[in-house]
Amino acid sequence: MTQWAFDNSLIRALPGMFTPWHAEAPKAPRLVLFNDALAERLGIPGRAAGEAQLADWYSGAAEVPGSEPAALAYAGHQFGQFNPAMGDGRALLLGEIVAPDGARFDLQFKGSGRTPYSRGGDGMSTLSAALREYLVSEAMAALGVPTTRSLAVVATGGGIWREQPHPAAVLTRVAASHLRIGSFEFAAADQGREGVERLADYALERHYPALLGAPNRPLALLEAVAEAQAQLIAKWMALGFVHGVMNTDNVTISGETIDYGPCAFLDTYSDLQVFSSIDAHGRYAYGQQPAVCRWNLYRLASALIEPIAAVNEADAEAARFVLEDWPIRYHDHWLREMRAKLGLATERGEDADLVRDLFQLLEGQQADFTMTFRALGAAFEHGFPVLAEQVLEPDKLRRWFASWQARLAEEPADPAARRAGMDRVNPLYIPRNHLLDDALTAAEAGDLASVTAMLAAVSAPFHPQAGLERFAAIPPLDAARHVTFCGT
Ligand code: AMP
Ligand code: MG
Repeated sequence: MTQWAFDNSLIRALPGMFTPWHAEAPKAPRLVLFNDALAERLGIPGRAAGEAQLADWYSGAAEVPGSEPAALAYAGHQFGQFNPAMGDGRALLLGEIVAPDGARFDLQFKGSGRTPYSRGGDGMSTLSAALREYLVSEAMAALGVPTTRSLAVVATGGGIWREQPHPAAVLTRVAASHLRIGSFEFAAADQGREGVERLADYALERHYPALLGAPNRPLALLEAVAEAQAQLIAKWMALGFVHGVMNTDNVTISGETIDYGPCAFLDTYSDLQVFSSIDAHGRYAYGQQPAVCRWNLYRLASALIEPIAAVNEADAEAARFVLEDWPIRYHDHWLREMRAKLGLATERGEDADLVRDLFQLLEGQQADFTMTFRALGAAFEHGFPVLAEQVLEPDKLRRWFASWQARLAEEPADPAARRAGMDRVNPLYIPRNHLLDDALTAAEAGDLASVTAMLAAVSAPFHPQAGLERFAAIPPLDAARHVTFCGT
């Protein structure tokens, strides 16, 4: 029989950074979604345990054997403002599962009731918010983006009010850990240098164990997180993903995407596109994400600077350099992603210009981000017209298309193989905003069919699937949704 291989290291290692707590008992838990493949990867009981048992475990109705539930404390900069007292206000860490291959994962509830960190909030999640996170995080995983995963959604049987009544649900989330920049900000503000040192060693052990022998461990951690985040944001940008709330409490130390609230994928490309209803000034617009990431890394650096300087005063300068240099680091990753999207296997100095020109030409063209890149792959077979179909003024793109073709000619390749390579990085299916909204509305009304169909499409995002064509459709202009809500 499958055991629950819990080993709750955070509870042992980080006193003062959590409060032991329990989930609120749900009224009538009912399993809505369960990720069997993920359960198997974790080596924990799967569907064979029975739906009623899973519903009880993943809602807080029955204690998960070996778990030691706790709400984590953290701080954070929210839209630029420091908030020293945040923490798991509607989340609960169950503990850490050690998978059969030795990898360690946090299991966490979201929406399991109030905690000491809830402040004015009710600690609950709507069913649609839980399903939204499930769908988008699983889509991101299938797209090859580091991300938290979703294991289960259980409707609690209760209701909550978010401008209108909604069914409530608990999402069970799986993460390499839930340590975030805000955890370091909390340790620095609340515990001072020793607390930050303890947390930095713990984070290295969990995420970057090879760096434990580094001469300056907190500096090595800063650099590792800067690198992981540069890779992550490059992937977001290459897929047109807009996170929506890049506050420092939503930036992981592991480099996984976390907290799918008002996130969205671009339909029409624009650097300025914002979706979140709470982002009035466009702080977290699509094109702002690299700059904001660096701003967030400065917050991590300021929490780590005392421990860094305590090891070696001169290393403060090295920390400064990690951040000064970050745009170059990011740009290298971004260009690698973009080369693959354009079918380029070699590196040339002018490639960055080729990519920039393309984005400049697409601005204002009402070009669907996802379909435009998919069309570039199809152009090997059908030529310029497939790209022309994607934009309002095709003539503006003719010269660019010719330079791209000329660039491709410099590295001869079999067109079919090249197209196949591009189709492996330029998805066909993303969780499109208007379809996602419709699927979630139907799910709250009791019809899960669209959610499960969409999940099937986005779980294999690069391959056309019979019967799922509608999930690749561009929204009619009047149906494109440009506002998403935290809906928590
Ligand atoms: P988020 O926007 O999800 O990153 O959350 C920001 C902060 O608000 C975190 O400390 C959350 O725990 C807290 N929070 C968000 N929604 C709720 C809620 N419904 N009840 C209690 N706390 C919440
Ligand atoms: Mg958060």
